[in-house]
Amino acid sequence: MAEDNLAADAITEGLETRFIGQRVLYYSSLTSTMVVAKREAQAGAVEGTVIIADEQTGGRGRLKRAWLTPRGNLALSLILYPSLSYLSSLMMLASLAVVHTIETVTGLKPQIKWPNDVLVNGRKVSGILIENDVQGSTVNYTIIGIGMNVNLKLADVPDIQTIATSLTTELGRDVSRLTVIRRLLVEMEKLYLALLAGGSIYEEWRDRLVTLGQKVRATDGETTNEGIAESVARDGSLLLRGSDGSLTRIVAGDVTLRG
Ligand code: ATP
Repeated sequence: MAEDNLAADAITEGLETRFIGQRVLYYSSLTSTMVVAKREAQAGAVEGTVIIADEQTGGRGRLKRAWLTPRGNLALSLILYPSLSYLSSLMMLASLAVVHTIETVTGLKPQIKWPNDVLVNGRKVSGILIENDVQGSTVNYTIIGIGMNVNLKLADVPDIQTIATSLTTELGRDVSRLTVIRRLLVEMEKLYLALLAGGSIYEEWRDRLVTLGQKVRATDGETTNEGIAESVARDGSLLLRGSDGSLTRIVAGDVTLRG
């Protein structure tokens, strides 16, 4: 088993970031890191605070779907206080940070399924959930939740066995979650600082999307749109070319995409 001490000190010690992950709250088990992060953000936690749990008993994906985090997996939530103009870039930031982390730590070649799932060999290795608290043009807080299948054994999660994968499954060996977390925090800060400095991460995110060129069906509540995923706009929305030639803009929100 790879070295795996996730205690806060082990994560923060010598961490090469200015603020992301400099304060870590570590829990052996939580219902969801998002719940604790929300409470922390409402109480004015310092920017960059990270909540990490070894196991989530009620992890959520989008649309209140379950996100499975048995022990040995990774779940974290990061608190940020960005201005409104950065919100649409945060899903790009989080998915790219996960991609960079997996590449650096394992050498695997991940891809992004629009808008924010990270896949390895076509299967989901990470899911990202972003919750914003916005009043008018003021962002009270943003929480970026990331679930990553690190040492997940697929035999332990029959419900998602055919759609999910994990780093250990792909590599045939365990991976140090500590190394993964520390890298992820560094990658997130790099991208966040680049954004704040006026840089763009859109081009790289777009080029990593496995979705473009594919025939997809986008469902949002009662509305379904089918077509070829032609391109993505700078705000992250997907442009879908219908068989009648029409172009529909799909905003990430609560849309479910099926190939
Ligand atoms: P999609 O179902 O297309 O991935 P989505 O991006 O909205 O849509 P999320 O809501 O982020 O998905 O994630 C929840 C879904 O992910 C669940 O319905 C389940 O199918 C799957 N899932 C749950 N736990 C895991 C996990 N640990 N690894 C991979 N997939 C998971």
